[in-house]
Amino acid sequence: MDIQPFALIGHPLGHTMSPFLHQRLFPLSGLSGEYRVLDVPPEELETRLPALWRLCGFNVTIPYKQAIVPFLSRLEGRAKLFHSVNVAARQNGEWVGYNTDSIGFSRALQAASIPLGGRVVVLGAGGAARALAFESALAGAQITIAAREHSLPAAQRLAEEIRQQVLHSQASASLLDQLEGDWDLLANATPVGMYPHTNASPVGQEVLCRCRVVFDAVYNPNETLLLKTARECGAAVVHGMDMLVWQAAAAQEIWSGKTLDPSMVAPICEEAVQEMQRLFGSQP
Ligand code: NAP
Repeated sequence: MDIQPFALIGHPLGHTMSPFLHQRLFPLSGLSGEYRVLDVPPEELETRLPALWRLCGFNVTIPYKQAIVPFLSRLEGRAKLFHSVNVAARQNGEWVGYNTDSIGFSRALQAASIPLGGRVVVLGAGGAARALAFESALAGAQITIAAREHSLPAAQRLAEEIRQQVLHSQASASLLDQLEGDWDLLANATPVGMYPHTNASPVGQEVLCRCRVVFDAVYNPNETLLLKTARECGAAVVHGMDMLVWQAAAAQEIWSGKTLDPSMVAPICEEAVQEMQRLFGSQP
């Protein structure tokens, strides 16, 4: 079988988990793929496009998730809703943009047998918060987007956008230090607690003890202080690495047209933690 070329485009890329994840997933999706990393500075994006069109598919990361849109024939699914693309697939001679970030989040919860719904608080108002908040709203959850004072307007804009785009949705914004009541799910979408600043947590025990489930988008380290404290409070926890693995699995489903067996994907989450430790020298 001929080798099928795939790649990740972004800048700057440094260490990335994508080659490891996709090489591990190719045998599951039946693709005879080869995965490369294309670190392309913004001023070279247009001249490097022909190299992308020779691929069978590619992933897109910062800063090109929106910048790639004008060069694609159309957007599908979540990409249309977010106007942000992390997967491009060649289909019937056209390049189609998808977004599997938020699907990675919901599939990580699903793999842990945790339903997405009820009262959900998303911490942060950036790119990951957007994916988590929209996915929660689409699942019928009542969303609160919590941010620091200076980014409260961004949280309010995101809540407004969700209310406008997701039928019958309930979304509002709150200050991070004024979270009241009990939460079915708290989802961190800030970088707080990320290696090497592992002694930090976006909220403390007082909030975490009022949460049934806690998810952290931060995947390095695997067990953040947030998750450790939540576990001590008796909450169920879901790791950011699971989201990373599941968004890659969803990308391979788009490229291959096959549905991956969750029991075959789950072990890759464990292996990915080991690989991350090898790449970044951090603690799992
Ligand atoms: P981003 O667009 O820069 O947004 C970060 C958000 O966090 C902003 O709203 C920012 O608001 C807030 N924030 C930053 N520092 C804060 C602090 N000290 N206290 C409170 N809020 C703070 O970043 P992103 O792309 O959304 O990524 C966020 C995190 O998610 C990163 O750690 C990233 O690695 C992770 N992520 C994981 C996955 C996965 O698959 N697991 C996927 C995507 C992203 P301010 O304006 O207040 O700074």
